[in-house]
Amino acid sequence: MEKVNKGGADTTSTTITASTTTAPATITIKGILGLLMESIDESEGKKVISLGMGDPTAYSCFHTPQVAQDSVLHALQSHNFNGYAPTVGLPQTRRAVAEYLSRDLPYKLTSDDVFITSGCTQAIDVTLAMLARPGANILLPRPGFPIYELCAAFRHLEVRHFDLLPQKGWEVDLDALEALADHNTVATVVINPGNPCGNVYSYQHLEKIAETAKKLRILVIADEVYGHLAFGRNPFVPMGVFGEIVPVLTLGSLSKRWMVPGWRLGWFVTSDPCGMFREPKIVERIKKYFDVLGGPATFIQAAVPCILEQTEEVYFKRTNYLLKKSSDICCDRIKEIPCITCPHRPEGSMAVMVKLNLSLLEDISDDIDFCFKLAKEESVIILPGTAVGLKNWLRITFAVDPSSLEEALRRIKSFYQRHAKLL
Ligand SMILES: *Cc1c(COP(=O)(O)O)cnc(C)c1O
Repeated sequence: MEKVNKGGADTTSTTITASTTTAPATITIKGILGLLMESIDESEGKKVISLGMGDPTAYSCFHTPQVAQDSVLHALQSHNFNGYAPTVGLPQTRRAVAEYLSRDLPYKLTSDDVFITSGCTQAIDVTLAMLARPGANILLPRPGFPIYELCAAFRHLEVRHFDLLPQKGWEVDLDALEALADHNTVATVVINPGNPCGNVYSYQHLEKIAETAKKLRILVIADEVYGHLAFGRNPFVPMGVFGEIVPVLTLGSLSKRWMVPGWRLGWFVTSDPCGMFREPKIVERIKKYFDVLGGPATFIQAAVPCILEQTEEVYFKRTNYLLKKSSDICCDRIKEIPCITCPHRPEGSMAVMVKLNLSLLEDISDDIDFCFKLAKEESVIILPGTAVGLKNWLRITFAVDPSSLEEALRRIKSFYQRHAKLL
């Protein structure tokens, strides 16, 4: 960046230089997990168990269905998909995603509503890039998924946090949402099924969120990357069901439901039967923006129609069964560890938030201290709540094979016993 400094201090240009060259002061999950990994004491000789990251492919019980793998191989071997795809995605891929999502909606999405992205992460970035304008702010859940804060910081989009309420199944504090919004608020984010809390919202709660957003005249960004990974009381209801009440941007990917986070196949979808996003200027802006993005590999896109149409129900049932089993192990073992409590059993996704009771511990100052000492002494990685916005909580990922999960929780228990305050 060129710095213009014609005689005397030009404060504007120095500010711009500073703010565009420094990384935003936002914590990233990957950053903290990297530091925790480094602090593991290898002389302890224990196998490292990570309950930190949401990448279940590290465990052999979580794998993609054969049909997904075959579809990619087939697309690759056809030699038809070595070229560029249209920047918004292959037409058949857009159509397949529209049909897949329409199965759960009271109206039909079309190909034009769907834009193919490099994972859900890029869909988040596109969304915030589209919404950012000087002075604008966005409402984000706390605890949440820090990629939103990071993208917002790069876009100079102001962030305002509303709380999720643990005693109410991590529902959105709707009063707080209303109190935070003003005429510069552009959208609110709903992550359902939830990361990091494992919540699955009821139809009624989602409807209330939609009504509140309508009243505030803001959009709803629905992060449904864990769509259908629901194994509790509430079935998964997509936010797009309420698209008639409020325009919804639905973000998703193959990453979690198909256990292929490395394939980088996601979508940005306008779930908007009233057609607010169909205004030519907005469509033009979205399309132009996609011209500067590189989407996922063409042969991965080409495999999507087969993957979405042919994955059998038993595969999804098995995944939800395994997640339920793991989450039960997790919650039951946590009950045996007095310094952590789980206020709400997870009903979906792959993670749960637990509260740390520091008054029961002798020499642990906070969640970060807990996680670093745990990594060093027990070779177990869990994420300090601070990384997702809640100090002195912990996020535990349970998408882990049962024996590793049991072993990790046994080690956390013995860690507790060693550090327990003697009363
Ligand atoms: C994993 C995750 C993402 C990112 O999904 P990718 O498809 O891997 O980019 C987005 N949002 C939430 C809440 C996630 O947990």
